[in-house]
Formats: sequence, C-alpha cells, structure tokens
Amino acid sequence: MKEEKVQELLKVKLREKGLKVTQQRLLVLQALAANSGSHMAAEDIYELIREDYPDIGLATVYRTLQLLLEMQLVDRINLDDGCVRYEIGHLFEGDTKHNHHHLICRTCGKVLPFEDDLLEELERHIEEDTGFHVLDHELKFYGQCKECLSKSK
Ligand SMILES: [Zn+2]
Ligand SMILES: [Zn+2]
Ligand SMILES: [Zn+2]
Repeated sequence: MKEEKVQELLKVKLREKGLKVTQQRLLVLQALAANSGSHMAAEDIYELIREDYPDIGLATVYRTLQLLLEMQLVDRINLDDGCVRYEIGHLFEGDTKHNHHHLICRTCGKVLPFEDDLLEELERHIEEDTGFHVLDHELKFYGQCKECLSKSK
C-alpha cells in the first residue's frame, strides 16, 4: 500500500474512534504500519520515529501507544520475559479478522507472525458446545527459530 494511502486510512481510523489526528498519533501508527509483521517494543518505535523527528520523546511514544491500545488501533503482546511488543491492529484487514499466532524464539527473542488461523474448526466446536461466540484469541508458541536452530546444529 502506498504511504499516502496508509496515512489517509490511519486518519479515517483515528476520526472513527473520535480521536483528533495529531502528528504523534500518525507517526506511531505509521511506524507500526510500515513494519507490520515485526513486533516492536516502545523503544524501537521511538528510535524509528526519532530518525526523522528528533523532537519526539519516549514518554510521548508510551502515552500515544497506550491511547491507541485502548482504542484498539494497535495490539500488544506480552512476552514471558516481561517485554511488551506492539503491532498495528486489524485496521487493514477489517475488524472480523482474527489475530495471527505468535512464534517466539526462546534463543534470540524474535517474535514471528503465523498468519493462518487454522482454529476455525475449534471455534465452531466451542460455539456448538457452549454457545460461546469466539471473537478472537491470542496464541503463543515458544521454541527456536530457523536461524537459531541452524546455528545450534
Ligand atoms: Zn480464529
Ligand atoms: Zn531465534
Ligand atoms: Zn503479531
């Protein structure tokens, strides 16, 4: 997607949530959109934005992320080492899309997305059995990534 188009969509999404379009909010969302598939800590996002906008502060990035999180424009995953990573929400795929699964490397700490849901049958099963309608889920797999695996051989 072209950068201007991404920016337009982000503005629409902010307004939909009743939020004012500010430069900080756009910058944070843009950084996440441009790196969708990678899961970034607040510090990574801050470093990225700072290259072009040295005036932005880390506290502002934290605050902005918190707000965007509450508005469900960004998602967060908590890793078991206490590290929090952020990623763009389902803005580009529509609201019904379920979260991808996360593959977390215990050796290098990398977080990889796995895009296939593959849980549709289980979700159907749950609904039939309990009447509970599954809206989303968060699944983490811990192990060793391809690179670390080949290094350890
Ligand atoms: Zn699902
Ligand atoms: Zn690894
Ligand atoms: Zn993710």
